[in-house]
Amino acid sequence: MPELPEIEITARRLDEAVRGSVIESVLAPGVKVMRTFDPPLSELEGRTIERIGRRGKHLLVEASGGLVLLIHLMSAGRLQLYDRRAGPRDRTSRLLIRARLDGAEQELRLREFGSKQAAWAKLLRSSELDDAPELATLGPEAWPSPPPLHELLDAPRPLHAALRDQHVIAGIGRSWADEILWEARLSPFKRANDLIGQEAQALRQAIAGTLGAAIEHYEQVVTLPIPDKLPMPLKVHRHEGEPCPRCGETLRPVHFEDYVIAYCPSCQTGGKTLKDRRLSRLLK
Ligand SMILES: [Zn+2]
Repeated sequence: MPELPEIEITARRLDEAVRGSVIESVLAPGVKVMRTFDPPLSELEGRTIERIGRRGKHLLVEASGGLVLLIHLMSAGRLQLYDRRAGPRDRTSRLLIRARLDGAEQELRLREFGSKQAAWAKLLRSSELDDAPELATLGPEAWPSPPPLHELLDAPRPLHAALRDQHVIAGIGRSWADEILWEARLSPFKRANDLIGQEAQALRQAIAGTLGAAIEHYEQVVTLPIPDKLPMPLKVHRHEGEPCPRCGETLRPVHFEDYVIAYCPSCQTGGKTLKDRRLSRLLK
């Protein structure tokens, strides 16, 4: 599930590798992956990749002549670079977009795992980029310097949901929301507009610190080709049932339809175990 740190390291590694490369040919075998048709994807052919960057959880492939391929990996997409001769036939994922670079030696591939197609791309003119609704509605970047939170978190909704809302703050998803709230010793279900000054400050520091440490970790361990599964340095998320790395209390889950929130009752909820929504639904 790529979030800001995973997208950031992907953009950095790819940028180092393909900046200055010429796009020889580009195809979109993925049905419905392209959400724009003008300009057509073939407009990228013959252009030079000037930069691969990130905004929120989006990747931006900027090409010469003022074109930008905006990509959202959603939960199971990956943008990866392959040596064409080395790559075995891929049966574990679907190929959504393929760009051959520099004499067709290398391929930039947008792949997606799982059965659902959700990853998407738009080819835009640079001048239109800021007006693309996906970017125009993004909140401020969560990293490197998240903005003061009291202005952003003004609605009576759970912190976990507020942090994941890309319109509020851009880049955080389910995994890093768990880690950030644990780091800040805040309940995932505390109402965002109930944060007092000190808590808001702790949360802001936890956002910058947690995401920054993850990127730092990836800088040390991630090399090309970027692996399908990044080694996420998670302490709490997906660790329910294990001891809290800070206090030793058992980390607890709250199950939702398609995800699980993990937290430490001792560090985050004043010793209270939160109702497991899956259990409470079954008991009705
Ligand atoms: Zn704890």
